[in-house]
Amino acid sequence: MSARGTYPDPKAGIMQIALYQGGLSALQGHQNPIKLSSNENPFGPSPKARAAIEAAAADMHRYPDTGHTALRAAIGALHGLDPDRIICGVGSDEVIQFLCHAFAGQGDEVLFTEHGFAMYRICALMVGATPVEVPEADFRVDIDAVIAGITPRTRLVFIANPANPTGTFLSHEELTRLADTIPPNCLMVIDAAYAEFVDGYDGGASLATERDNVVMTRTFSKLYGLGGLRVGWGYGAKGLIEILTRLRQPFNLSTLALAGAEAAIADQDFAQNSVRINNAERDTLTRGLRDLGIKVSDSEANFILARFEDEATADAADAFFKSRGIIVRAPKSYKIPHGLRITIGQPEDNVHVLAAMRAFRGTK
Ligand code: PMP
Repeated sequence: MSARGTYPDPKAGIMQIALYQGGLSALQGHQNPIKLSSNENPFGPSPKARAAIEAAAADMHRYPDTGHTALRAAIGALHGLDPDRIICGVGSDEVIQFLCHAFAGQGDEVLFTEHGFAMYRICALMVGATPVEVPEADFRVDIDAVIAGITPRTRLVFIANPANPTGTFLSHEELTRLADTIPPNCLMVIDAAYAEFVDGYDGGASLATERDNVVMTRTFSKLYGLGGLRVGWGYGAKGLIEILTRLRQPFNLSTLALAGAEAAIADQDFAQNSVRINNAERDTLTRGLRDLGIKVSDSEANFILARFEDEATADAADAFFKSRGIIVRAPKSYKIPHGLRITIGQPEDNVHVLAAMRAFRGTK
């Protein structure tokens, strides 16, 4: 019997899990708030993805393809990757979970960085492993700190590139320097959820092609505007993908999810237009905020991290934004209490953000 009730104690680590905090999506008193809290594509998904999902609804009595054959083929064709080295998950979150389940357990360490994405810690604890956090330098992954943090017990090293919530980015040379130091009994996971927003970046695919102990994770939740559909994928050595597949439920992706993702990836005009607008808007917003004396690291993603003098100022800015119907993300759980993460919205949303910040600075 458990001290908590008449049921058994959970396995070690589980009660240490702090629940994932998603971005707010509603604001009292605002019918249509500007939601810039979850790094979603402000234009939504491609209309073709929406149509494909609607059409697939007619087949909902059928089980989906357990092998995700068409989707893996489409991903492989777009990125020049072998579909046999791809696994699809319920968001990249599920791929992160597969990796922890397969490669870490009690007594093992899972390493990530100071402001790293919350799921790395959650999944490490889920499997009974020890989460290990290493410092960043000026809101950027510090390769030397990561290297120094690797021990004989380290099984997984998670690096988000671009990183969330900072938006900062490591070059291919920096990623390669880190990959060079990863021992053979350890995996380096390049979480490339925001890769599409970076011009000329392959998300770490070439490293994962060349090295058996490097894996890349990707998602349809950001650029493709399908966060609600839950589709992500991972790419790595064929044998490694086969290991992860043993942990995957046969029907983890629904018929609708497969249809939507296949149609979304086929509509590259829509995707590339979203990238173009995002990157131009991101630069405008970054400049505008810097002109107001707010610190903003160079972001390569679809959001920026604004940093204020202190937590109280960030809280006041957050409240002021809310009063204007704008929802951003306070990354307190990411150890940035003086920051606000702002997803790049549609151009008119960003005009509202800048106007609100100007007013906040003027009325403070
Ligand atoms: N990695 C990073 C860095 C993220 O920001 C997110 C989404 N917040 C994910 C992974 C997971 O995304 P999804 O499960 O929707 O693919």
